Amino acid sequence: MIKKIAILGSTGSIGTQALDLCRRHPDRYRVTALTARGSKEKLFEQVREFRPEMAGLTEGINPAEIPADLKFCRWMSGKEALKAAAAEVDADQVLVSIVGIAGLQSVLDALEAGRQVLLANKEALVTGGHLVTDLAAKTGKPLLPVDSEHSAIFQCLQAAGGNRPEKILLTASGGPFRTWTAEAIAQATPEQALRHPNWSMGAKITIDSASMFNKGLEIMEARWLFDVPAEQIEVVVHPESIVHSAVVFRDGAVLAQLGLPDMRVPIGYAMAYPERLETGVEEPDLFALKSLTFEKPDERKFPALRLAREALKAGGAACTVFNGANEEAVAAFLRKEIPFGEIARRVEEAMDRLAGLPADCLEEILEADRRARDVVRSVPQ
Ligand code: NAD
Ligand code: MG
Repeated sequence: MIKKIAILGSTGSIGTQALDLCRRHPDRYRVTALTARGSKEKLFEQVREFRPEMAGLTEGINPAEIPADLKFCRWMSGKEALKAAAAEVDADQVLVSIVGIAGLQSVLDALEAGRQVLLANKEALVTGGHLVTDLAAKTGKPLLPVDSEHSAIFQCLQAAGGNRPEKILLTASGGPFRTWTAEAIAQATPEQALRHPNWSMGAKITIDSASMFNKGLEIMEARWLFDVPAEQIEVVVHPESIVHSAVVFRDGAVLAQLGLPDMRVPIGYAMAYPERLETGVEEPDLFALKSLTFEKPDERKFPALRLAREALKAGGAACTVFNGANEEAVAAFLRKEIPFGEIARRVEEAMDRLAGLPADCLEEILEADRRARDVVRSVPQ
């Protein structure tokens, strides 16, 4: 059976790798919608190749700019484009691979329309975890994680036979600054932070990997996906990025998923679940690797982990504040307006100032996000 797939954020790192899998398996996938923020030329190329019914740019598209050979496609602009791709265009699966809290509305739209959601956008769970998981439970379709660690945990749980895990071991590469001093990290430049040792990803998540905010966001993501309290999620630094995470059971058994650091494996697993696709990725050569190493994270050098746990404990909108403040601070860092060390400081400031905000509905979540960004913008240097 051919699966129809809509891809939100198709020009990004995850989106292009998903399309690579669609290209490899034309007999299994038909692309029905593609969206991007502003990369017009890249989107044109993708529409030419995959011929979706609908395509859209959230930054807008002038009908006069659409090449003559691409007029067969329905072109849309702005938030309407995301809404149509998530919920209106005919699709079995919706891959949400846009960046940031912008993904929350799309995930809710896709679930409400009864679509199978392939979730790359972790921010939807970080900010609206209870709304998303409640809605997913009603549809009866599991959220299929694309994030490599969460895909690994999900894969390990397939062998759990209903047994609940005692603990989740969430692995982290440690990023480019793992061996740096706290003083050197505080002054790191965007060029240094964008040089990830193992993974090639979009800019925002690459900076988050360097600060370990990504791992903080992933603790929150795991808490919602697997309904496990934060105390049972342990971060394990594993610089080789071969073990993508593991699950511990009460009998002392640990199940882990291993593979090369290539996102086509978790993307393909979500796309074909419960089957497995040929992805073009080789198995890791254990003889060449020889050893795999593990260490405890240094929470003094990477305050993001402590802040994430504090946010989870506080509840309400604290995780949304953590996320929104970080998004805003990362953008300022990439514009070279603030030093690297200032990212965590501003997030902590926002969490302190906005303690106790509610997050019961989408409006409250979006309000907390706005206020967190305002705090980050207003903190004096
Ligand atoms: P990216 O920056 O490479 O691509 C993002 C895509 O979404 C692009 O097509 C862009 O045009 C579009 N986009 C960005 N912001 C948007 C907005 N506000 N509204 C609409 N469209 C927007 O990002 P990425 O690295 O592919 O990451 C996508 C998501 O997947 C993120 O949530 C990230 O945390 C998650 N993720 C990525 C990786 C990875 O390897 N890249 C791994 C795990 C999780
Ligand atoms: Mg990850």
